[in-house]
Amino acid sequence: SSSKIGPHLAHFWPEDGDEPIYSGSVSEQLHKVLTQINVDECAANGENAFFIADMAEVYRQHLRWMRELPRVVPFYAVKCNPDPYILRLLASLGTGFDCASNGEIQSVLQMGIHPDRIIYANPCKAASFVRNAAKQGVKLTTFDNLDELDKIKKFHPTAKLVIRILTDDSKSVCQLGLKFGAPMQVVPKLLQRARELNLDVVGVSFHVGSGCYDANSFRDAVQRARDAFDMASEAGYSLDFLDVGGGYAHENFELIAKVLRTALDDFFPDVDFAPGGRLCPDGLRIIGEPGRYYVQKAFVLAANIIARRDGTSDAETAQESNPLQISDAALTSSVTTDDKPQVMYYQNDGVYGAFNCILFDHQIVQPKVLTLQRQFAYRPDLPAPGVEHQKLQACSIWGPTCDSIDCVRPMTYLPNQLQVSDWLLYENMGAYTICAASGFNGLQTSQVRYTIGAQGHDADMVRTLLEC
Ligand code: PLP
Repeated sequence: SSSKIGPHLAHFWPEDGDEPIYSGSVSEQLHKVLTQINVDECAANGENAFFIADMAEVYRQHLRWMRELPRVVPFYAVKCNPDPYILRLLASLGTGFDCASNGEIQSVLQMGIHPDRIIYANPCKAASFVRNAAKQGVKLTTFDNLDELDKIKKFHPTAKLVIRILTDDSKSVCQLGLKFGAPMQVVPKLLQRARELNLDVVGVSFHVGSGCYDANSFRDAVQRARDAFDMASEAGYSLDFLDVGGGYAHENFELIAKVLRTALDDFFPDVDFAPGGRLCPDGLRIIGEPGRYYVQKAFVLAANIIARRDGTSDAETAQESNPLQISDAALTSSVTTDDKPQVMYYQNDGVYGAFNCILFDHQIVQPKVLTLQRQFAYRPDLPAPGVEHQKLQACSIWGPTCDSIDCVRPMTYLPNQLQVSDWLLYENMGAYTICAASGFNGLQTSQVRYTIGAQGHDADMVRTLLEC
């Protein structure tokens, strides 16, 4: 059963505008959408790849955060997935927002969010963006260099400044320290300059790198933050704000949270938090900037197999009718090398679209079988490829553009019964995917369908939160 939420949200799915959000499990939603698509008869783009976003998953991640890190207020990193429903849900849940640009700030303000719930967490900002932040009352912002201080003095002199320090990001998939963060030896000079300019430095921030796989990076970072607090005292500042950044993942969150809690106790021992978190008696406020953590698991992407090339059978056909008498060796070598699978699938989303995460976010994606010979076959409980007792064959998977960099998977194993017009499913597609997708080759970016989740308490909560 599905039910409608808010017709005012209909524009997010224009072709089926009167029912933009459903209730039901992801599997039910996939089944439902696929039954509406007739690949043999649909209009152009009718079989486009599409996401299903499970809003209940985002809700559960929030509860998990509050359970594990009650002292740390999450400021969701909008860049990770600026989907309007996600922002709306998180706004209702009471999170803050980490914005990287004027555009992100506008999206958040347009929801009626108070500017105090925004941190403009980009240490290198355009002057016009700084002026606009000042105009709209967004005060919290990060810096990590002298020139930024001059810019802020000129355009936003009442800003509440947070010094972003460099931490060890060598145990993270995406290393942000290559670009941002003041080395510890530079921190005193930056603070001294801020003082000379009479700027209001309120705290310290760090980011251990996105996709952090060693929780100890957080301990090391909190220790450096403590040192930066002490340096600030020497420069005449009394800091009361700590931003522990992003880097959290679904799989290791409890471990990171434990290390973080212990590190906060060890390096900020004098800080006694008020009941309910948030503020300690001497005023230390702690925020985090989780992105991936909230959304990665909440989105799946279904892609249609639009074409297929079987090197073996194509070569056999070519050999049967070979009027130019090309040698057998030449024919075979054009389709076969040891590391190149014979079967190539072409699907209708690739690295210029949602799968840009392969290039930009260092992801390795693994498809599951969504339909097999046009029959729904998705089994969320099974590991990829998600089918039992099937004969698997080596294959590669490619995107729809005419560029050969558009390779989604150079080698994997899928059932040999898979046909053109069957569907593949990719789980964990919510982080750093849609936000950086392009329209290269005149292709449309994949649209999102939403569900509030399988019927039950979580879905009811999500419905209420979205409606308020
Ligand atoms: N904060 C800042 C300043 C970032 O640059 C990023 C990601 O690039 C994030 C937070 C979110 O990181 P993650 O998605 O790893 O939590």
